[in-house]
Amino acid sequence: MKCPFCGNEDSKVIDSRPIEDKKRRRRECQKCHKRFTTYEIMEKPLRIVVKRDGSFEPFDRNKLLAGIYHAVKKRPVSIAQVNSIADEVEERYAASWSSQMTSDKIGSIVLERLRHLDAIAYIRFASVYQDFKDVAGFIAAISALNDDEQE
Ligand SMILES: [Zn+2]
Repeated sequence: MKCPFCGNEDSKVIDSRPIEDKKRRRRECQKCHKRFTTYEIMEKPLRIVVKRDGSFEPFDRNKLLAGIYHAVKKRPVSIAQVNSIADEVEERYAASWSSQMTSDKIGSIVLERLRHLDAIAYIRFASVYQDFKDVAGFIAAISALNDDEQE
């Protein structure tokens, strides 16, 4: 951060405090020792869910959590495990450098995790997320479970 007085690049942060979504930093130039203030603006990650019909909505972690909690109700899956699934979805957004992810992709990330945690929760989530149209879809989900057991 260039000193506004002497142009020196080297400054020391002497105080830092958040103000709403900004960070205010009090700096001191290492050369002329004058003090100045900088503001850092936090870039809020934009996360969009593209739905199957092509419409989209902002990603809502709470909505995702509600869906997972519904699937794991009365099953031996902990709150920490549910949270870590939501974390993984958010990490995938960050890792892809893209603000968009399809609802199918999110669903498959959750299913992949539930498949290893609890079979009942997995089937419940699959039935909502994949919206089984017929028995074949349901059987496909069950056989995915069986494949796992044979690994
Ligand atoms: Zn300076």
